Amino acid sequence: MSEEREAIKGKLPGFEKYGTKLDRAVDAVLAGGVKECRFLPSGRRVITVVGRLGDEFIDPEKPYCSCSNFYFRVLGGREETCYHLLSYKVASATGRVDVVEFSDEEYGPYLAATIRDVFEVLRKSGS
Ligand SMILES: [Zn+2]
Repeated sequence: MSEEREAIKGKLPGFEKYGTKLDRAVDAVLAGGVKECRFLPSGRRVITVVGRLGDEFIDPEKPYCSCSNFYFRVLGGREETCYHLLSYKVASATGRVDVVEFSDEEYGPYLAATIRDVFEVLRKSGS
């Protein structure tokens, strides 16, 4: 049990209900796993969270996550959120989102590389 993890959890009242999912989310945040890529000057954002199998895309405003857990359990109404979206909530509440800025010209190549990673994850997980 890490002290740093407990310190972060102490700053998140109301999050205890997420149980062990919260522990995993806090660990992902501590490892710098929540990344926001900002493309300028458009201000377009792409947010990714590192999970067990690799990066997943999330959109915390919708909310949306590209993981299978979100698709089957959250949209199916069995769970309130997935681990990736929870990680983002923890990171934004504690100021630990890792923001990286790019120029708009880099958007295409960035997206192509990231989508390749996501498909690689899908292939490995057999879905
Ligand atoms: Zn997810």
